[in-house]
Amino acid sequence: MRWRRLRPHRAPTGEESATRDRERMVAEQLESRGLRDEELLSAFRAVPRHRFVESDEAYGDRALPVGSGQTISQPYVVARMTAAARPTSGWLGASVLEVGTGSGYQAALLAEMGAEVISVERHPELAADAAARLSAAGYSDVQVVVGDGSRGWPAGAPYAAILVTAAGPSIPEPLLQQLSTDGGRLVMPIGAREHQLLTLVERHGSDATSRVLDPVVFVPLIGEFGFPAE
Ligand code: SAM
Repeated sequence: MRWRRLRPHRAPTGEESATRDRERMVAEQLESRGLRDEELLSAFRAVPRHRFVESDEAYGDRALPVGSGQTISQPYVVARMTAAARPTSGWLGASVLEVGTGSGYQAALLAEMGAEVISVERHPELAADAAARLSAAGYSDVQVVVGDGSRGWPAGAPYAAILVTAAGPSIPEPLLQQLSTDGGRLVMPIGAREHQLLTLVERHGSDATSRVLDPVVFVPLIGEFGFPAE
């Protein structure tokens, strides 16, 4: 009789199972809905979403709370926004402004693709937590700043891309001014407090063209060029 050596069974570690969750998230929520940009999909496979969104459902197909009454969108909406904002010359070395740091996850994705990111958050405690998470996950180059992002962040302008991850009644004029005149792209949910249309604006010289992408629901952009605080 011949004996075959059995490989001892080993349960997957937390990080191994998170890697599998990410692969499943990319296949079932992004690729299956038509997102094909390999650079974007690789970033979603690489960034440990569970370290930014502390929930058993970090990889689920749904929006989740991130603290201070704020939420992060489902992975597909984050991916759709990121894909729409991609500068024509690519993310590597691109100067990017995010308005609404929240958990820091969107900023991490942009940094993972090589962008130079400034992210503005109005809640100081969310900004501090996000900066700590970004640094712990290896994205310490992301600059997290506290302020009213509806005014943009003039010190870093012009930006090749601006992603506003909170909804406003219209495109804030300072953001348009801070967008690169050479094909700069701004993506933002525009509409009422309860529901909005994800909108892409492209700037060429003094011209700006806009296109509606999808109906969405985001938390409000509170500030001088957003909604008033309630
Ligand atoms: N991008 C985030 C992430 O990856 O977790 C999710 C952002 S959450 C949908 C919207 C964020 O915008 C909230 O954290 C909220 O506090 C912030 N916010 C709202 N108005 C703002 C403003 N005027 N300036 C900066 N941040 C603002």
